[in-house]
Amino acid sequence: MNYYFQQARFTQSATTPKTLPPESGFEVAFAGRSNSGKSSSINRICSQRSLARTSKTPGRTQLINFFVLPQGEYLVDLPGYGYAKVPEAIKLEWQRFINDYLTKRQTLKGLVIVMDIRHPLTEHDSMLLQWAVSRNLPVHILLNKSDKLKRGAVMNELLSVQKKLTVFNGDISVQAFSAQDGLGLELVWDKLEGWLGCKKKDNVDSATIHTEQDTIL
Ligand code: GDP
Repeated sequence: MNYYFQQARFTQSATTPKTLPPESGFEVAFAGRSNSGKSSSINRICSQRSLARTSKTPGRTQLINFFVLPQGEYLVDLPGYGYAKVPEAIKLEWQRFINDYLTKRQTLKGLVIVMDIRHPLTEHDSMLLQWAVSRNLPVHILLNKSDKLKRGAVMNELLSVQKKLTVFNGDISVQAFSAQDGLGLELVWDKLEGWLGCKKKDNVDSATIHTEQDTIL
């Protein structure tokens, strides 16, 4: 468990650019296709069962949710995309809002894109990557649900995605991940701490204090 991220707390939602919180601490945004496991990944990173909502109706909520960390940094949960039943008008509105957020938010230090390792780099994923690269925003990709594949297949997929990413010519890293069993957690914690400039993990004492939380996941 990472005690720092375990302290993340929901603070507010935004539906339009005007309702975004003022730019203060550094922030990292999480994006991903509906059902990629974005909510489960945020919950796992923060060792909390229901910080980000795991939704049964993917794509319905078009909100940006802000979770605040102890030193004022934000983890930002962007709406899931690519859900077929979402009307075209809502998809366009989502694109405008997210594009606006990603291109204008000065405190945004990095973007995590969660993908299902079995279906990586969808059209929407690629669009996001292009937006991020065009404004020099670093991206870290979580190839989630790695527990669904054998080890060799995970490695192959990781290498294949790495190769495909070279065309974007940006600051993009990628790792295998599993929100279900915690594979790859240390890597993503390191990445987030680097971007946010937050305190290094303080897990020695907290590991004993928070064992109850550990057993949740
Ligand atoms: P979101 O729509 O992207 O926020 O996805 P959710 O977090 O709601 O997850 C969608 C479904 O995928 C749920 O049934 C999760 O239990 C499942 N899921 C998420 N992460 C993993 C994972 O790492 N491994 C497996 N096997 N299932 C996962």
